[in-house]
Amino acid sequence: MPFPSRLIEGYRSFRTGRLQREQDRYRELAESGQSPAVMVIGCIDSRVSPEVIFDARPGELLVVRNVANIVPPYQPDEHAHGVSAAIEFGVVALAVKHVVVLGHGQCGGVRAFADEAEPLTPGDFIGKWMRLMAPAAEKTGPRGTLSHAEYLTRLEQANVANSLDNLMTFPRLREGVEDGRVALHGAYFGVATGELLIRDEATGAFLPAAGDGAPFRR
Ligand SMILES: [Zn+2]
Repeated sequence: MPFPSRLIEGYRSFRTGRLQREQDRYRELAESGQSPAVMVIGCIDSRVSPEVIFDARPGELLVVRNVANIVPPYQPDEHAHGVSAAIEFGVVALAVKHVVVLGHGQCGGVRAFADEAEPLTPGDFIGKWMRLMAPAAEKTGPRGTLSHAEYLTRLEQANVANSLDNLMTFPRLREGVEDGRVALHGAYFGVATGELLIRDEATGAFLPAAGDGAPFRR
């Protein structure tokens, strides 16, 4: 099968559009190296691209994406840990000033966990990966009278909080947070409306991001 033509088309459009405007910036970044101030840990969901949501220019965001924007706890052992390596790179090598965990609505990973969907195969990766969400589910508590959709939203937001808790288990990052060199934030993107909520550190509530754009179409 040939290289996807949609990608060729997209690249053409990038070359004649954005690259024209950003060419100097790309050259500069190639020479000086990247120094993004913000690291975003998001979900692989194709609808939730941090660079698009935050209208980021090249070199501005260090992005790591995985199934359900999960940060595993700090666990130095003989295994390779991709997310932890990215965190180490962002925090230690690049000294980012902000780490944002970006959750979102209609997250398939969170829903799979909530519905206890069958793993793809007995030796699958997703099932084991999603188990990292267990503390978030515990904090969310039983579904009770909540609708399925409401329960999933709570779980998606608790999962962001759980990732923030796990970030604090990384000693170098914790040190940075305590010294005020780096700040941790939680955010939540509503796929249907495009609304961004930001987690209030004191209360844990997710509140609308300040914005004076057009109202959201619900
Ligand atoms: Zn997701």
